[in-house]
Amino acid sequence: MRKTLIAVVLAGYSAFTWASFDVVALGTQGGLSGDNLTSYLIRTEGDARYIALDAGSTLPGIAKGIEKGSFPDVTPEKAAPLTPQGYIFREQINAYFISHPHLDHVAGLILGSPDDKKKTIYTLADSANTLHNHYFNWKSWPNFSDAGNGERLGTYRINSPRVGQTFTLGVTPMRGVIYPLSHNGTASSMLLISARGESFAYFGDTGADAVERSKNLDAIWRVLGPLIQQKALKGMIIETSYDDAQPDNKLLGHLTPKLLLSELTQLEKYSGGAGSLKDLPIVISHIKPTLVAGKDPQALIQQQLSAGNSLGVKFMFMQQGDKAVF
Ligand SMILES: [Zn+2]
Ligand SMILES: [Zn+2]
Repeated sequence: MRKTLIAVVLAGYSAFTWASFDVVALGTQGGLSGDNLTSYLIRTEGDARYIALDAGSTLPGIAKGIEKGSFPDVTPEKAAPLTPQGYIFREQINAYFISHPHLDHVAGLILGSPDDKKKTIYTLADSANTLHNHYFNWKSWPNFSDAGNGERLGTYRINSPRVGQTFTLGVTPMRGVIYPLSHNGTASSMLLISARGESFAYFGDTGADAVERSKNLDAIWRVLGPLIQQKALKGMIIETSYDDAQPDNKLLGHLTPKLLLSELTQLEKYSGGAGSLKDLPIVISHIKPTLVAGKDPQALIQQQLSAGNSLGVKFMFMQQGDKAVF
């Protein structure tokens, strides 16, 4: 009895005192099949509104999440006259962050646009140009945006905050800062999300600095290091597209376990040195599926990451529809 009471008090205390982030994986892969492409929802605990972090697959991921019980606050009664899937898509996704405009990060946004409501898309200026010129142009798709060619249907306001500048994410309590990433010649980006003194980092596709001849990841590690020292970084989502057998000249701006571990070793240096990344939750995203029989890319990547994990970070492999709290 006494134990239960203490547990209840502690649970109440923790929910009240510490900000945390709810993340639902809508799509976790980096290609091939259209129904499980990169997209995650994030919100602060206690707020109903999500920001979509990329939008490769949206509706199929929401359906999977409902099946898995990852949206317990949405009932058919609450969703009416929409379906729960429609309600989460239209009403609970408050805004989008698009890391870069590759198809596996925007397909769900474009396909769902006719049934979406007015929202803001945050993305790099370069990605905004691609969305206007190559997707919302009345040739690939009707222009659901607020700029560009032909009639503007105006569902999406495409907003390009300056790199490094803080902005409010939709009408949520979360704020964001965008940092550039190198992705084989395409401008990609990372979003650092903060609320109530806690942060979470979402990385779009990226290569390693050594391979990309870039300093973009190094610049990001210098930002995240102090946050880790203050215990303010709750977790991150970062890609590992290929296993270690992928040759450097076939990476196309992506990471392997070996390259990610070497980048994280840099991060450790800026975070207080040996042991400072211990138990840091790192969600591995964007695994490239294969059509080769008997090959399991996720199992291979998982095994290679854990074999080289002298940093002691907590690698996580969220599956489509899974929810996790950070
Ligand atoms: Zn991608
Ligand atoms: Zn890409």
